[in-house]
Amino acid sequence: MKAFSIDLEWFRCPDGYRPVPGGSMGRDGPPMDRIVASSDRTDAYRPFDHFDSLYKEFAKVKTADDLLGFVKRFGLLETSPEYDADFYPGDDGEVVLGGVSEYEGNSVPEYLTQARLFREILLRKENGPKSVAGFFRSHKEFGIGGRLTLVANPSTGVEFAVTPFDLIQGLKFQLAQSLFGSTIIRACRCCGEFFEAGPGTKVRKDATFCCREHSVLYHSHKRSKGDR
Ligand SMILES: [Zn+2]
Repeated sequence: MKAFSIDLEWFRCPDGYRPVPGGSMGRDGPPMDRIVASSDRTDAYRPFDHFDSLYKEFAKVKTADDLLGFVKRFGLLETSPEYDADFYPGDDGEVVLGGVSEYEGNSVPEYLTQARLFREILLRKENGPKSVAGFFRSHKEFGIGGRLTLVANPSTGVEFAVTPFDLIQGLKFQLAQSLFGSTIIRACRCCGEFFEAGPGTKVRKDATFCCREHSVLYHSHKRSKGDR
């Protein structure tokens, strides 16, 4: 049973999304690669009512192309605009805040970093709760955001529901749901995809491959390498 439900209405642009390379708007930016919606049109949907393991999809994101693919399917990670500012040396030797500008869409490097943190947590789960706790202790900002409410549940009467502010926060809550269970998440030694192992799943607790085929493939590849 899940400890809480995730209550988020999010949106997708029916006209799709496109990459905007850093510096493509001249000196004004954006300072880093971004992904923006192709139009202002939005279709509302409830990602966490339909996708049980969206956090695993996000954890697979390793490149800018992966991120664009994710956004095309599930929408931006947070609502734009974002603001970009930095400190610069001023005329009188003081440091001033400048370069504040609005950018559309989401920063590619920022969300590639977030996806990497998701992978790091999933791999730590294998090493036990102390390892997971160690992550959250050193990344306190990771879990911030959202509201806790109570909602009706036909089987228990009532349950906790979290209302995230945006998709990235919802993904973090869904990741947390997976951390409470006894299911182990592991990266396949052959293809690198995350899979669930242990009771209630298709594979044994100590499995290191997502499926039989990949175990066979990996070992036959290793053998052919060793023959040389
Ligand atoms: Zn595999």
